[in-house]
Amino acid sequence: MRAIAVTPGEAGSIHLEDVPKPSVGDVPEGRGVLVRVLRVGVDGTDKEINAAEYGAAPLGDDFLVTGHESFGQVVEVGPNVPTTIRPGTYVVASVRRPGSSVYGKIGLQDFTTDDVYYERGINLLHGYLTEYYVEDAEYVFPMPPTLRDVGVLLEPTTVAEKGVNHAYEIQRRLKVWQPRSALVLGSGTVGLLTALVARLRGLELTVYSLPQKPYRNAELVEHLGGVYASSQDATLAALSEKRGPFDLIFDATGFSPIVWEAAEVLGKNGVLVLASITGGDRKAEINSDKINQGFVLGNKVMVGTVNAAPADFRSGVDDLIKAEALFPGWLSELLTTPIQGLENYEEMIRALTEDREAIKVYVDVATNGS
Ligand code: BGC
Ligand code: ZN
Repeated sequence: MRAIAVTPGEAGSIHLEDVPKPSVGDVPEGRGVLVRVLRVGVDGTDKEINAAEYGAAPLGDDFLVTGHESFGQVVEVGPNVPTTIRPGTYVVASVRRPGSSVYGKIGLQDFTTDDVYYERGINLLHGYLTEYYVEDAEYVFPMPPTLRDVGVLLEPTTVAEKGVNHAYEIQRRLKVWQPRSALVLGSGTVGLLTALVARLRGLELTVYSLPQKPYRNAELVEHLGGVYASSQDATLAALSEKRGPFDLIFDATGFSPIVWEAAEVLGKNGVLVLASITGGDRKAEINSDKINQGFVLGNKVMVGTVNAAPADFRSGVDDLIKAEALFPGWLSELLTTPIQGLENYEEMIRALTEDREAIKVYVDVATNGS
């Protein structure tokens, strides 16, 4: 069967690879789930893997099948798979797998302390941009058929979910935390999905990002009842005067200097969640005393987050269901840029690198039910 792959270490190496079709027995103890891939989303990580900035092939292979945002339909299950997953069930598989750290042993490999991490489609494990994959039922999350059209958004949603869920988890230290206002930095896919998640938690929403209105992503924020502001029109400090103080700030910009400005507008007892993977070596001058004092006197928290745990996949499914009920059609509007078929991988990379208007680029690998 066909797969979209790269040769790690070689920039621009994206190509079609012929790979063996997996079978349900490849996973031990009858826990295998064989899935027909319907759709796979791509993001900055895929772009950087094709640019050879990171990504490694599985041991023994010289290529890496890419794609970590999966959506598919179960074809066959092993004898020990829970009945919540049956042939025909729509599913999304998670990305990271356990290594040797204790966190992997308790199912929380998103918290691994190992230097090497295993992620499908990213590092040392093949991904989902292919026709079929097999996976242990433990890493496969069922979805209701009502999410058929937007289910490919679950994986990026889980990144937002983990950050927000952990902000609440951290704030259990306060006995009472009544956050009122959330600020999301960045209005790409993760920024928008975080805006949604914050709104579904009942928070006042402000989104701050580079582009000026009129801007489709700004309209999407407004559909959620949020306020959008461009960094070309207002500083974060000025925005905070009007809309702050912010109890929860989530950064999904990819621009690390903004973190220090955000630290200055975080409210007392607030949490600043960092989710941008910034591979560069940018430096910034910061108001060090002011930030430090604000954190000390205000009992503030800054926390990094990566990947997601099973609980975040489950709350992600719940939030996608809620989103369809409360903001019908909103999620579909994120699916701006479909690519038809694995063979159009060049168009996929082009859309990912050049299309400034795109929110989510995704590959329709197969049609549902056929
Ligand atoms: C993925 C995460 C992953 C992270 C680091 C992101 O693009 O969505 O699941 O943990 O990259 O590789
Ligand atoms: Zn990703």
